[in-house]
Amino acid sequence: MSSYEENYLNKRPQELCNMCGKCCRVVTTSLPYQELLELQKQGDKGACEFLGIFEPFASVEEARSVDKETVDNIIDNLKSDGKYDEEKITFYTCKYLQEDNKCSIYEERPALCRHCPSTPWAIVPPGCGFEGWLFMKREEDKERVRRAKEELLEMEVLKKKVTNLETLDKIYAVEHKLQRTIDMYKKYGSENW
Ligand code: SF4
Ligand code: SF4
Repeated sequence: MSSYEENYLNKRPQELCNMCGKCCRVVTTSLPYQELLELQKQGDKGACEFLGIFEPFASVEEARSVDKETVDNIIDNLKSDGKYDEEKITFYTCKYLQEDNKCSIYEERPALCRHCPSTPWAIVPPGCGFEGWLFMKREEDKERVRRAKEELLEMEVLKKKVTNLETLDKIYAVEHKLQRTIDMYKKYGSENW
């Protein structure tokens, strides 16, 4: 039987990575730097792992001087999602990335690197080998949500025909599950799909 790690990686075709090193050279996080530092103090595993390898750039401009395209792509994406906050954004670079784009701790790299891209909705640098795959996965998510919406409509019709309480309870349970699927993608805009 394959391990959780193997299953996770099997879902991400690692051969798509073209080893450009862009996602190691300039990244940002959804949480502000100060919050990450707080979490690190509290021993939060994710924050400790991230700050154990990434160091903050002094400014957005400094990050831009390293990879303007990636920085601007991240900012544009955040702006279009209404999530850009100039005061709170920090870019980081990994201290283990070598000049030749190789990772100097590849065999021991943390899980956050092994699991990249963490979700089909991750913002990847322009030219990342995963771009096409992520697009396909996002379309699959959208299709899943559309099906759930259709089935919810079918449940509405069904409820009008059913009088048996037990059957109604089953319909409510199915509706609850379908709604959960839609809500799961809410932050990515599932209400409009
Ligand atoms: S940006 Fe994409 S292709 Fe480049 S190293 Fe990162 S995962 Fe691989
Ligand atoms: S530890 Fe290695 S794989 Fe992870 S971000 Fe740094 S250079 Fe990239």
